[in-house]
Amino acid sequence: MNLLFNYKGILKGTVSISDEKKYGALAIAVAAVHLVLIFIFLYAGSIPMVIYNIASVAGYLACLRPIKKKSLLMVYFYICTEVIIHSMLATYTVGWDCGFALYLIAIIPVGFDMAFALKDTIRGISAAMAFGVISFAILMGCKLYSAYFEPTHEITNERFILFMYIFNILCTCILLIVYSYIFTAEIFVTRLNLEENNKKLDSLASVDTLTGLYTRRKMSEILNKAVEGGDNFSIIMSDIDDFKHVNDTYGHDCGDRVLEMVSGIVADCMPDGDNVCRWGGEEFLIITHRPLSEAADIAEKIRAAVESRCLDFGGKTIRITLTLGVSEFNPNSNIDSVITAADKNLYIGKNSGKNCVISADDVSHL
Ligand code: GH3
Ligand code: MG
Ligand code: MG
Repeated sequence: MNLLFNYKGILKGTVSISDEKKYGALAIAVAAVHLVLIFIFLYAGSIPMVIYNIASVAGYLACLRPIKKKSLLMVYFYICTEVIIHSMLATYTVGWDCGFALYLIAIIPVGFDMAFALKDTIRGISAAMAFGVISFAILMGCKLYSAYFEPTHEITNERFILFMYIFNILCTCILLIVYSYIFTAEIFVTRLNLEENNKKLDSLASVDTLTGLYTRRKMSEILNKAVEGGDNFSIIMSDIDDFKHVNDTYGHDCGDRVLEMVSGIVADCMPDGDNVCRWGGEEFLIITHRPLSEAADIAEKIRAAVESRCLDFGGKTIRITLTLGVSEFNPNSNIDSVITAADKNLYIGKNSGKNCVISADDVSHL
C-alpha cells in the first residue's frame, strides 16, 4: 500500500522501494486473486481448478520466505510455472473465453523488473526474454487448442463467462498498470539517486576537505574556462614559508591549523568573482580577472594580512609568512606557461628572503 499511496515520496526519491516489500506485496496480491478464483471455480463447479488455486495460494504465501532471503530467481520460476500451468489448465477445463490465459501477458513485465533486482542481471534479462517468448507461444497454443477442442467442464451460463472474462482482464490490467508504475518509479528513484551521488562526488572532487577551498582539479577547470572564454586574468601562486619547520616543531595538527588559518585569510582577501584553490600541500593558486599591477596589489594585501595574524596553538603563538609569485595571462601563450611564470616568480621570492610578492614587473626590473 505504501508503494501505491506514497507515490509523491517515491517520485521525489524520499521513499525507496525495497525488493522485499515489492515482491512481498506482489505475492500477497496474487495469492488474493487466487483466493477469489477458488470461490469462482467452486461456483463454476470445476474441482481441479479449485484444488489448483488452493495450492497456488499456499505457493505464493510460501514465496514470502525466499523473497525475504532474496532468492528471487527461484520465486520468478515459481511465478512463471504457476501462471503457465494455470493458463493451460483453465483453458483445458473451462475454456479460452473465460480469459485465464491473459495472465500470461500480465506476468511478462515482472520478469524484466526482477532482472534488475538480480545480481546477475544478464541471466535475469535472458530468463525474462525467454519467458516472454514462451508465454506468447503458450498463449497462442491455448487459443489454437480452444479452436479445436471443447473445454472439459462446459459452462453454459454466458453471463458467468462474461463475468470471469471481465474479472480476469481487470486483474491483468491492474497488474500491468501497477507494475509499469513501480518500474517507472524505480527508474526515477535510481536516476535521482545517481544525480544526487554525482553532485556529492563532484563536490568531493571540487572542494578540499581541510581548507574548504577549491581543489587543483576544480581550479584547472576554471583556468581552462577562462582561457577558452578569452578572459584577461592574472595568476598568483603562493607558498607558506618554512612550513616544514612548523610541522617539525609543533606537529602535523598545528600545521593543519595553520593551513586552515592561511586559507581563510586568502579567501577573505579575494575580490568577488575571483577564485582560489589549494594547489598543493601548502600552496595556494589564485586566479583574478585583473591586470598584473592590480593582481600584485591583491597579493601584497594577502601577504600583509598573513604576516599580521598569528595562531595560538596549545599556548604557543605561531607566526606565519607567505611568499607570492604573480604573472599575467598572455593570449598568445597557454595556461601552463602562465602558471610556470608565477611559479618562477615565487621561487625568486623564496630566494630573495621569503615573505614577499614578486610579479613579472619586479623581475623585469631586477
Ligand atoms: P619554503 O619556505 O621553501 O616553502 O619551505 P617549506 O618548509 O615550506 O618547504 P615546502 O614548501 O617544501 O614544505 C611543504 C611541507 O608541507 C611538507 C609537507 O609535510 C607539508 N604538508 C603538505 N601537506 C600538508 C598537510 O595537509 N598538512 C600538514 N600539516 N602539512 C602538510
Ligand atoms: Mg611548498
Ligand atoms: Mg613552503
